[in-house]
Amino acid sequence: MGLGKSAAVVIGSFPLGESDRLVTFYSRDFGKIRGVAKSARRMRSRFGSALELCTLGELIFFDTGRSELVRIDHFDITRPFNRLRENLETLAQAAWIVECMARLTAERDRHVALFSLLVRGLRALEGSRPPARVAICFGVRCIEALGHRPRLDACVDCGRAYPFPRPSLGEGGLVCEACAPASAAGTLPISPATINAAERLRSLSWEEALAMPLARTETELAAVLEAQVARLIGHPPRSSRFQREVQRLLPSSGAPPLTAERVYEGGH
Ligand SMILES: [Zn+2]
Repeated sequence: MGLGKSAAVVIGSFPLGESDRLVTFYSRDFGKIRGVAKSARRMRSRFGSALELCTLGELIFFDTGRSELVRIDHFDITRPFNRLRENLETLAQAAWIVECMARLTAERDRHVALFSLLVRGLRALEGSRPPARVAICFGVRCIEALGHRPRLDACVDCGRAYPFPRPSLGEGGLVCEACAPASAAGTLPISPATINAAERLRSLSWEEALAMPLARTETELAAVLEAQVARLIGHPPRSSRFQREVQRLLPSSGAPPLTAERVYEGGH
């Protein structure tokens, strides 16, 4: 109860009533916090554009103790991450990153390393690395930080040591060919090259992981990660559709040049 203050990133923001906004933050000192920003949608709101998704700032809130929701008193921008919103590809990956934070974490569960990872991920998206790679590096570390690190050295069902032929990834880690049909949670085939790449990605430093050559394993890694996140959330992340749509519209796929209008016409 009382006043709280912490560095925080906006990971969710929804209109509430006529002029308020329901905002979800991931804060360094309190973990995930949800609160109401009064009159945030008025023209002359004191919050201005501070409550945009991905904004990093100093949050001051008041916790009445009567509700899960806090009252958001101030949010002063430290870093707006505006460049993330200038490009649809970085915007799509940023949306995926903040959705992972919003859906995979519990409220008021402080996790300083996860907060640092979030800020590092958003910073990297503003840099020169390919956005899809940043999302993969973030996702692998995020799942690990939350204690869901998949087991990659043996079959999670029968304990058979890896390597074995035709591995797949199920709940909690690798599954061998014999156990896969009986896996209730479902499995996804994974190539030995992708298993190696996943092992290396998590042992390297953040900068090394961003620069590591992945070649063809990158697409499979992204699919495996997506399946893991969907399993943890209970359904595919909503931002994944946006991500796929943007990938489809990228100039490299032979499609006409990408414009914001074309993506938003698609119902996003
Ligand atoms: Zn097995």
